[in-house]
Amino acid sequence: MIQPSRRPPDRETDRNETQGESDCDAPAAWTEAHHLKPWSEGGRTNLANMVLLCPSDHRRIHDPNYTHERLPDGRIRFTRGAQTG
Ligand SMILES: [Zn+2]
Repeated sequence: MIQPSRRPPDRETDRNETQGESDCDAPAAWTEAHHLKPWSEGGRTNLANMVLLCPSDHRRIHDPNYTHERLPDGRIRFTRGAQTG
């Protein structure tokens, strides 16, 4: 069941101008910032190192069953089961 406050946004009300989001249509307010290179490993908090992910994509980017790569347009492509070792 879809609750009113979680209703998917209309396309024309999507004012998301941020870069680094994944394919999904979640508006920026729903996204979570993820450091491509962990802050604890010297990753910078800037656009080059940050990506905005919806909660489900953010879970997936930390899921060892998936690998991910950043596409030239800033989106993240997930690949399932490609990680070796
Ligand atoms: Zn993260």
